Amino acid sequence: MNPHLELIRKRCAEAAKRSGRSPDAVRLIAASKKQPLEAIQQLVAQGQSDFAESTIQEAQQKIPQFPTSTWHCIGHIQSNKTRFIPGLFNWVHSIDSEKLIDRLAQAAAQEYKPLNILLQVNTANDPEKFGFIPAGLNNIVEAILSKQYSHINLKGLMTIGKANVSEGETRRTFAALKTLNDGLSTRFGQGYFSEISMGMSNDYEIAIEEGATMIRVGTALFGERS
Ligand SMILES: *Cc1c(COP(=O)(O)O)cnc(C)c1O
Repeated sequence: MNPHLELIRKRCAEAAKRSGRSPDAVRLIAASKKQPLEAIQQLVAQGQSDFAESTIQEAQQKIPQFPTSTWHCIGHIQSNKTRFIPGLFNWVHSIDSEKLIDRLAQAAAQEYKPLNILLQVNTANDPEKFGFIPAGLNNIVEAILSKQYSHINLKGLMTIGKANVSEGETRRTFAALKTLNDGLSTRFGQGYFSEISMGMSNDYEIAIEEGATMIRVGTALFGERS
């Protein structure tokens, strides 16, 4: 039995309420990278449905053991690994180039496996980080939608909050992603921007207050990674 799940669920529900939303408006994703199979099994037994992995190699070891769970890819994907993604994951949060989408689209169509994707946004405008810069997003989305991919569903945006900054700065970063998402939703259609993936162990309540629909929680749920 995972001792942290109930408390995290309760905190999520309270944060959702503070943002004027129902608890079901927020999906808790268990970031199970570097955690053992037994820890995942425990959570499955407690009704946890969504899990995330960061690397293909680890995903290939773990995901086939939990075929009824929903799996999210949250790590940077190298182009020589794209062919493995549709058979493993249902969602990719870490989309950081148009070329990556093209390659995933081809793989997903070949396997007849639909993929839900989120565009990772480099909200810090940090050249050392992955993700699209906010100013380029309108053009990127236009390009993606014009291709009418058969097995790719654009669903929203994702960001990774900055580490070691004040609560105020974290909140501003998340609020900025929500504003960006709202603008794109108005321009291109709500169906393409229904999800906002932001918030991790240290900042998931702030993220929910600022509009997250998906949070990715690892250490707060499992303890330190091995
Ligand atoms: C590892 C990881 C998480 C979870 O991080 P914790 O701080 O352990 O909750 C969330 N998102 C991404 C992209 C990650 O790589």
